[in-house]
Amino acid sequence: MAESIGSTGRRGTTLRPLIAGLYEDGKSLSEVGAITGLHRGTVRYHLRQMGLERRPQLEALRAAGGRISQRLRGRRSPNYKGGRTHQSDGYILVHMPGHPRTDKSGYVFEHRLVMEKAVGRLLSQHEVVHHRNGSKGDNRLENLELLANHGEHLARHGHLKGSHHGN
Ligand SMILES: [Zn+2]
Repeated sequence: MAESIGSTGRRGTTLRPLIAGLYEDGKSLSEVGAITGLHRGTVRYHLRQMGLERRPQLEALRAAGGRISQRLRGRRSPNYKGGRTHQSDGYILVHMPGHPRTDKSGYVFEHRLVMEKAVGRLLSQHEVVHHRNGSKGDNRLENLELLANHGEHLARHGHLKGSHHGN
């Protein structure tokens, strides 16, 4: 039977660059799945389609280091808030120890994550995700805009001077 890439294509095809990037960063199939929102079997399918060899389990575990057991401890901790937290300045952080751009505690900005899923790749350090309505906790994709650098971001805020856009 001939394979069609159209409507019968597997979920997550547009996420392939992100999947490949995360996997090559040493993330396990499960971690890549958690970040992309795909089942680990689907992640494995896309890696095979891209010609990326599946790492032996042991190597993936080693690549993940101690973070796996750390995360389990975190989930059992009474302070665990479902992996989502508000920063004092209004941004939402997501606990995602497998992501390559976390802070020391394993958190990433939710608005950057939403944009990464939308564009299907990791954002560079220079790229900025702007909140159109000024609400830093409103991470619906339609409220987010990807800008190439801080200069573009500043320009965007300049245009909004005097509006309700808070900063
Ligand atoms: Zn902004």
